[in-house]
Amino acid sequence: MTGSPLCRDTLVLNRGWLAIASTPVRNALRLLYSEAALVVQPDTFEVHDFESWSRLEVPEGEQSISTVRLKLCIPEVIVLNSFSGIPRQSLPFTRKNLIRRDLSRCQYCGKQPGQAQLSVDHVIPRSKGGETSWANCVLACLRCNHRKGNKLASEVGMILLQEPKPPAWSPIFEVAGAEKPAAWRRFVGEQNWVEAS
Ligand SMILES: [Zn+2]
Repeated sequence: MTGSPLCRDTLVLNRGWLAIASTPVRNALRLLYSEAALVVQPDTFEVHDFESWSRLEVPEGEQSISTVRLKLCIPEVIVLNSFSGIPRQSLPFTRKNLIRRDLSRCQYCGKQPGQAQLSVDHVIPRSKGGETSWANCVLACLRCNHRKGNKLASEVGMILLQEPKPPAWSPIFEVAGAEKPAAWRRFVGEQNWVEAS
């Protein structure tokens, strides 16, 4: 572990213990000190206010934050005292998310040939001004994509199974597996998705 502990990130849970964000340790301490949040011990789920947190011994070999009077453990997870909402994020348009939206299914022939055989098809081809967006892109198997080429589906007698649109779900808070600190694993997972209402 390198760098100042204040530059690390703390996972933020809403009042219902749903992971909603990450914030620099510096800011997490401010929230803790102002009683807007409590620290969560990721191993035991114990919670601490600033007072009881500052009384904890820093374990041997662990990084800590030193103030004039105190030596503090680094808060890895905090839970907010009052906010119970879920901040909405718009879902980024990525190949991975497109595969998830279209259920790995070619949107022309309906087959599920496996990820390596799937491509991103522009409904209105890019050469005709079609955008790379949720509303203009679908999964197509390589065969269908080749057949459609730079044309509209209707020009080559192909039919779209459904109108493409943005997915009806959005991530609450996502961290790529490799970037996820061990202490966060019990709080952020694949199930951390919400259906749009
Ligand atoms: Zn196909």
